[in-house]
Amino acid sequence: MNKTIEIEKAILAEFDNACENIVPEFSVMRDASNVFDREVHFDDGKMMSIQVITCRDDTCYTQGVLYEDGHEIDCTDVQDSLTGKFTVGDYSVTVEEQRLQDESVENKNYDELQRDLEELLDARDNENNPEMLVHIDRNIDEVRELIEDYDLSDDDLFRCENCGTVDDIEDSAQIAGKLVCASGCPAEARP
Ligand SMILES: [Zn+2]
Repeated sequence: MNKTIEIEKAILAEFDNACENIVPEFSVMRDASNVFDREVHFDDGKMMSIQVITCRDDTCYTQGVLYEDGHEIDCTDVQDSLTGKFTVGDYSVTVEEQRLQDESVENKNYDELQRDLEELLDARDNENNPEMLVHIDRNIDEVRELIEDYDLSDDDLFRCENCGTVDDIEDSAQIAGKLVCASGCPAEARP
């Protein structure tokens, strides 16, 4: 029986690294501390626990432990990365990096769009290839449009009607029917 689990890229990288290099965060811990544990359930009721275990003053290791009715029945050999396949008899768990759900700009929040725009503007400054420039410009237009149409209240943000600054909705105030910066508009943003 095979199961595949996906683990967030950053977490996987952290533990894979801790299996390869001595990381103080883990190497100071008591021997055999369990610093990662993911339970994977098989259809017949058995369960494999995928674990990262510390070694005092040394690198971590990984293992898969197979359980039946809450009792350990067998385990894999010690392995040296969290990414990979853990097999006990007929039971296997493959640990993979999580695939990104959807990287399209449509699902980004306001801050992410702003960051994308800055990156694109930087990229345009450093690009000499005319074809690439056309491509970058098209992306810039797309992101700018998304920013313009963005519903700021989705992110609990507001746009000051005096200075145009975008800030946390908690820093806004209604003054004379206008939504504005509560503590005064920043000087450099004043029109
Ligand atoms: Zn303002």
